[in-house]
This record gives sequence, structure tokens and C-alpha cells, in this order.
Amino acid sequence: MTARGGAGVSAFAGVLDQPLTRYVPGSSPRSTVALLEKELGITTVGQLLDHAPRRYIRRGKIQALSELVAGERTSFVARVESSSTRRMRSDPRRSLTDVVVSDDTGASLKITFFNAYSAQKDLSVGSLALFTGKPEFYRGTLSMAGADYAPVDTPESLDRSPDGELLPIPVYPETAKLTTPRIAKVVHQVLLTADLDSLVDPLPSEVVVVEKLPPPGDAYRDLHRPDSVAAYESAQRRFRFQEAFVLQAELRRRRAEHASHPVDPRPVLADGILARFDAGLSFDLTRGQRKVGEQIAAELAGTAPMNRLLQGDVGSGKTVVALRAMLQVVDSGGQAAMLAPTEVLATQHHEKITRALGPLAMPGRLGGDEHATEVTLLTGSMGATARRKALLDIASGAAGIVVGTHALIQEAVQFADLGLAVVDEQHRFGVEQRDALRDKAGQSPHTLVMTATPIPRTVAMTVFGDLDVSTLRELPGGRRPIETHVVGLAEHGPAWERRVWELAAEHVVNGRQVYVVAPKIGDDAAVPSFTSLRESLETQEDEPEAATVTWLAELVAARPELRGACVRVLHGRQETQDKARTMAQFAEGDVDVLVSTTVVEVGVDVPNATLMVVVDPERFGISQLHQLRGRIGRGEHASTCLLVTRVAPDHPSRARLDAVAATTDGFELAEVDLRLRREGDILGASQSGGRSGLRWVGVLRDEALVARARTAAEAVVAEDPQLTNHPHLREAIARVLDEDREAFLERG
Ligand code: ADP
Ligand code: MG
Repeated sequence: MTARGGAGVSAFAGVLDQPLTRYVPGSSPRSTVALLEKELGITTVGQLLDHAPRRYIRRGKIQALSELVAGERTSFVARVESSSTRRMRSDPRRSLTDVVVSDDTGASLKITFFNAYSAQKDLSVGSLALFTGKPEFYRGTLSMAGADYAPVDTPESLDRSPDGELLPIPVYPETAKLTTPRIAKVVHQVLLTADLDSLVDPLPSEVVVVEKLPPPGDAYRDLHRPDSVAAYESAQRRFRFQEAFVLQAELRRRRAEHASHPVDPRPVLADGILARFDAGLSFDLTRGQRKVGEQIAAELAGTAPMNRLLQGDVGSGKTVVALRAMLQVVDSGGQAAMLAPTEVLATQHHEKITRALGPLAMPGRLGGDEHATEVTLLTGSMGATARRKALLDIASGAAGIVVGTHALIQEAVQFADLGLAVVDEQHRFGVEQRDALRDKAGQSPHTLVMTATPIPRTVAMTVFGDLDVSTLRELPGGRRPIETHVVGLAEHGPAWERRVWELAAEHVVNGRQVYVVAPKIGDDAAVPSFTSLRESLETQEDEPEAATVTWLAELVAARPELRGACVRVLHGRQETQDKARTMAQFAEGDVDVLVSTTVVEVGVDVPNATLMVVVDPERFGISQLHQLRGRIGRGEHASTCLLVTRVAPDHPSRARLDAVAATTDGFELAEVDLRLRREGDILGASQSGGRSGLRWVGVLRDEALVARARTAAEAVVAEDPQLTNHPHLREAIARVLDEDREAFLERG
């Protein structure tokens, strides 16, 4: 976290960038400072103050244990007398920890913790802690099921307001050695000695007034040593809004910058490749496709670069929309590039587009159309000769449409006239990768980003804040609904598993094809000997290990029900050629059962595949399961998806499976997904597991706040596109970008 040099460096940077050691003399706090650096990477005042309490203990008065009343929520300080951990009777895989505490009154109380691991770790015998919870009578004595707790040094170290109320006590994100009291002590010292009133607000004053935000110095003090609930809440609001605003300002600034470089108009031609493609289309576009298509056509015809996110459920027909946009650009002599996240997908897009265009993709060849253009594939694993030819076609402009993977960005690819970049499955590309593609064009090309994972509005505004959003809500007609069932092997007998493989056999006998999906690849040397999933459950003590492709392939091939079926495997560790061959065989119908990882998740299109068996589905997220399921139900036949799980019915993940079974509406599922997840996981998971880059903004909770921040940022950038008159804001942006560059922009 380094400040950008130059005249614009604010006091905000000044104090916050000071080393902690300057503000924390004395040997005991010094050892905490050393720990802060070692365990949390915290070395500056700013980093420490940004290490916000993860919650506050705020309820009730301190009470003697002897005065506890059943059913009344209360707080008390007590010492841990004993602690023991035992297995839960109803579910032996889970544990409980019983802690007996006592205080000066001599009374004691048993508290049972369900988060056995952390309670056992935090509440060692002899330690003192503040507890908050509700005691109840159980078998004649008072006890508590669960409690909030924060370790304390001595009872006197607890602050009280004059009337004996407890002040809210911050509880910090801790490590084993860095407990809340230790962190609080150092924070306290810094708050006393650092000149926080010298911090200059990065937010424009009119925004601060409208939002009624406290100044940064006050906010830091109230965050760490609040004297009321209202105080820390308003501090949190300041930092939330500030984070949202700074991010929105940057996204708006980028957008303004792109818009300030006009591009060549790409008008629709009366008779060109697009018109001919439309004339030959074997189906009618849906209303949504037409509407989005017109919107895109108008933007391409203009001189402001388009930045559009097209979201639509799997199978909603995004590809046709994208292809039509690409053809419009080709009509003006330009080129369009389509970026896919994997080689399998790039190859498929290339084939599909070539097939869809027919004579329109055969320039200068027998039977080719006079408006035809070359459709060129470029991936990292292509041979040297093929690559050279591809690069040549791209550079000369002979290739009107180029489909590729990251290779399109990374290599020395020169386009003759790149007018449009289509990015498929956005969640795997970061903002900077899009920018890299833009750079290839010399000018900003139009950008169309497609995703099948519906994106909550707040995420769209934050992560994709520089894009306009279009949504395809309806699926093209004629698709068959998919029936989905959860098959719980933990609660049902072997007959249920037999039924799964019998059903697979029925599909195969009827000429259909089957996907079997496993969470892991596995390796040949370590294939378990179990011949059924159910058997694996009976002999393993803990939760079963994730099923692997190698194991399932053997299991499926050995099942009597599926004797004679052609079984093949597909996964990411195979050679590209092998993968391509297997996919081709499956597409041709030569393979009956394809056992694979989630490589089939995106884009694979085999309409004859009508059954999907997902093993250990609890290991996947809702949207991933939904994407997987989108591989079936693509043809004229009814399709079935079986979620075959080995976890117990009361396992938390089963709610996700039930949700997926209950609906095929991707948007509904996205909402369920949001509700079931913890707030902090949302961006991380939808962004392939990286850090969200958002420290304060909660995408569930803060939609309204983000919307306000966006409007406010828009107004500021509209007046001052380069933020020339807002040096402190500029600097805040630079700080955030420095810190979160990898997490936010280069998310891969
Ligand atoms: P997505 O990329 O959104 O998952 P695709 O564009 O691959 O969906 O479309 C899925 C299938 O539906 C493809 O086979 C495509 O040709 C077909 N399709 C697209 N639009 C229509 C339509 N309007 N009517 C009928 N079929 C369509
Ligand atoms: Mg697609």
C-alpha cells in the first residue's frame, strides 16, 4: 500500500502510511506489532485501522452468574473451568464442545457450542471471557446452547458507560495468537497518538453532506471505540459508501475515457453478410433476441464504443445475438474476435459458427457466398504452421471472425481492423484482460460480454460497473423441460443407486446419451475398490472423499446395468487432441456415457444427451450445477438430471440441491443462491474464488447504497472526467487499485 508520489498526496495518505512502530512504543505492544505484521501483513497505521471489527458485542448489562434468568438474553464475564468435546449423537460426524464457566459469585453454568472447533480453541481452561447469550432450563438446570464470546484480560478492562451499560465491544478478525484484546490495545494506542483529524476526505464535500457521513477521523475512532451502536453504524456507513464511491468513480472514469475516443461507425447494410445470414436463419429470433439485437445494432452503428454485458440463461440464444453483431462489423470491412475461456469451448464456437454460416464462411471457395468471410481459430496449442496461417489471416484482415482463447490476448496478434470483441462467459475474464484486447485494436473496439450466470444487480454495478446490461429472459421455443431429482444415497438403500444406473441404461438403449459428472479427476493409481457409490458410504467413517472421474469411469464400466455401453472419460488433464477426439465421438453419438469433470460445464452442445448424473453434487455451487444441467434438454427428447449425493439429509448443502431440483429458472436460482450463501462468499465464488476486492460493500445488503454511490460518482465524473479537480479522490483510487489490482482487475 504505497502512496502515489507527486503534489496531490493528501494527509490521508500521510498518517495512514506511517509505520505502526512510530505510534506504538513499549515492549508488550511491540510484540503485538510484530505479530500483526507476521500474521496479518499489517505494518502501517492505515492497514491497522482498516482491520475493522468483524462484529460488536453489544447487548445487555454485565450480570453475575447467580442472577441469570431463564429465557433472558444476558452478558456476563466468567472463567472457563472445564472444556470437553464429544460427538453428536444424532450425527456422529459432528462434534459439540461443553464448556463450564464460573464467576466470583461461585455460580457456574454449562454452555454447549456447536462450532466445537473454535470454541475448543478459544476457550481454554482458566481463560476469562465475556459471554452473551440466552440461558434456558434443560433437565432442571440452567444451561446455554451457544453464546457469543470475546476473550478479556480482566473484568475491569471492560468499559462501561455511566449507567453500567456495556459499551459495544469490538471483536476483531483474529488469529490464534492475535486475540481481540491484543489488537484492541494497539488500536487504542494508535487512536490516541495518530493525528486522524488531519485526514483529508477523498469524497467530495457535497456527497458527504447529502449522505450525512462522519469525517474520516471520527469514523475511524467510532469504528474501533464506539460509545454507542449508532456510532459504529455510522462509521461503517462512511467506509461502505466511500468504498462504493471510489470504485464507481474509477469505473465511470474509465468509461468516460473509452467514450472519448470515437470509433468508426459500423452501420447495418441492406445486402451484406448479416442480411444473408438472417435470410437463411432456420428459426425466428425470440423477442428478447430481437430487442437486444436492435440495441446492439444501433450502438455498433454509432461512434461511441459499446460496452455491453449480455446475460441470459444457458441456451437462451446468446451466441446467435453475438454472431449477428460480429457479422454487422464484418459488413463494414472490420473484424470481430470472440474470446472463450477454454480451448474446448473456443474450438466448439469455431465449429458452430463455421457451420451456422455455411457458404458465408467459405470465401473464394466453390459454393461460397460473395459476402463470405474467413472464420479463424487461434488457440495456444495449435501447431506452428496452423498458427502462422491464422496470424496471417488475422493481420491481413482476411479473417473477418476470429475465435480464440487467451492466446488472442497474450500473443503477438495483430488485427487489421478489430471492431468488436465478444467475450464469452465473463466470469473468467477480468477488466484488464478486456482492456488488453481493446489495446489490440488501436482504438477501443466495441465490447460485448456474455455470461450465463445471472449477476445480481449490485455485482453488476460494482464488478461490472463499466458495462451496460442486457438480459435474455426467455428460452427459445421447442426446448424440453428438464426433470431434476436429488438421489440421497445416505438415507436410501442400494436399490436407489441401482435405479440410477438402470435409468442410464434405459437412455442408452433408447439411443440417447448420458453424462456422468464427478467433482475431481483423480488418478489411476488411487482408484477406490468400491463397485458402488453406496458401498463407499458404508465403509468410510467421515464424509466420503470426492468422487473422481477415474473411479466413476471404472465403476460405470463395471456396472451390470450398463454392460456393453461405450464409456469414455473427459477431463482437463488430457491432451487437447484426446479431448477433442472424445468430444467429437460423443457429439457423433459413438460414445454412450461420458464420464467427466465440469469441463462440460460451459457451452458443450450435444442435443442427443438426455441424462446427466452428477455425483457428489454438494461439492458444486448452485450456478455451477445449473450450468452443468444446461448440457441436457437441448434436443427434442425429455431430459433428466440426477443429483446423486452421499451426504446426510440434514447436511447444509442439501438445501442447495433441493433448490436446483425445484426450478430450472436461472434467475430464480441466482436469488436462492444469494440467500443461502454468506454475504462475503458471493463475489468470491462468482469470481472463481478470488478475493472480491470489496472490503466493506456487501452485495446483498448494500444494493441501494451502491446505486446512490454510482449516481453520485456519475455526476462528479460527468463534470470532471479526468478528476482533475478531485486530487484526493484520484489518490484514493490509486491506493485501492494498488492494493486490489490482482483481486479485482486481473481476476482470471
Ligand atoms: P447460449 O449461448 O445462450 O447458451 P446458444 O446461443 O448456444 O445459447 O443457443 C442454444 C441453442 O438454441 C442453439 O442450438 C441455437 O441454435 C438455438 N437457438 C438460438 N436461438 C433460437 C431461436 N430463436 N429459436 C430456436 N432455436 C434457437
Ligand atoms: Mg453459449
